[in-house]
Amino acid sequence: MSTISAYAAKSKDGKMQPHSIQRREVQANDVLIEILHCGVCHSDLHAIKNDWGNSHYPLVPGHEIIGVVKKVGRDVSKYKEGDTVGVGCLVDSCLSCDACDEHLEQHCLQQPTMTYNSKTQDPGGTTYGGYSKRIVVREEFVLKIPENLDKAGAAPLLCAGITTYSPLHQYGVKKGMTVGIIGLGGLGHMGIKLSAAMGAHTVMITTSEGKAKDAKDLGADEVLISTNQDDMKKWASKFDFLLNTIPVGHDINPYLTLLKYNKTMCLVGAIEPLDSVNGAMLVTGRKAVAGSFIGGLKETQEMLDFCGEHNVVANVESIKMSDINNAFERMEKNDVRYRFVIDMATLD
Ligand code: NAP
Ligand code: ZN
Repeated sequence: MSTISAYAAKSKDGKMQPHSIQRREVQANDVLIEILHCGVCHSDLHAIKNDWGNSHYPLVPGHEIIGVVKKVGRDVSKYKEGDTVGVGCLVDSCLSCDACDEHLEQHCLQQPTMTYNSKTQDPGGTTYGGYSKRIVVREEFVLKIPENLDKAGAAPLLCAGITTYSPLHQYGVKKGMTVGIIGLGGLGHMGIKLSAAMGAHTVMITTSEGKAKDAKDLGADEVLISTNQDDMKKWASKFDFLLNTIPVGHDINPYLTLLKYNKTMCLVGAIEPLDSVNGAMLVTGRKAVAGSFIGGLKETQEMLDFCGEHNVVANVESIKMSDINNAFERMEKNDVRYRFVIDMATLD
């Protein structure tokens, strides 16, 4: 066991403070990673505030981890000391149930072990995430990072990247389709970049008129301001697919009017109750509302390789570990352009 510096929330007031955690010794299948960068996801904010009612304190968030391998266990074959690697939202699963057999470890029937706030046999009984100096992860849950990608910019791919890539990929987004990405934050900005890289005509759907220019710079072909009723009417029934990243429960009916018949809106943001949905719109338009939860390990590696090929990384604002409370306050005020990434060298 070794003692590691970290930052934790100690209660649902969500205030982050310096903290020490224990990491297990490296086992035969483990990789010890020195963390260089960790992205700040809106899920980290939900977790420290106990928005989902399942938080255990002290809570060390962080599931967009980039680091360098410091040591490997004797049975590890894929990685060696010095490799640049990533860890996303998952650190373990049974690897033998139907879901794991289908490479959908996030849906493991025995419960996946999430990178933080999950039950574990490790010291402390709860997993601790990437707002820390080092992490020990079994080999199967470690990802290779393409060498051409900027390391800080690659960190958000481990959650925001896979969470948007997976539905875009599963719903067959390609050239010739008109795709709307709803909400321009961490997930949304990756959604634009990935949809554009897949060749779709990509439209940013935002409540913030002030983000229109950024959206185009990120790769959106057009911008739809969702608070402008004329704009909403103009775009009615125009979309082949919608990816909705809004982080809270909301009225999805206005967005459903934007879908063509027989098309789907996939939710990834609101992990909570929604306002009531007008069944008439679903029935008469044969429209579907779906959800998607991060992605399995195989698909995450595919996404990283796709980003390597297309040179896609996040637009990041690098922060010091001690700036984290301010970063969360800015996230609450919708002032993120477009992902905070913590420089872990700033944690003693
Ligand atoms: P973020 O950076 O804070 O961005 C969210 C964006 O949504 C904002 O920039 C804003 O964009 C829009 N928005 C915020 N509040 C809104 C409201 N009340 N009504 C309409 N639009 C609103 O958050 P994020 O890191 O992208 O995360 C988004 C959500 O995804 C979070 O709830 C997070 O927990 C969840 N998540 C889910 C998964 C999964 O596997 N499904 C994985 C990771 C994260 P505009 O200014 O453009 O309107
Ligand atoms: Zn996340």
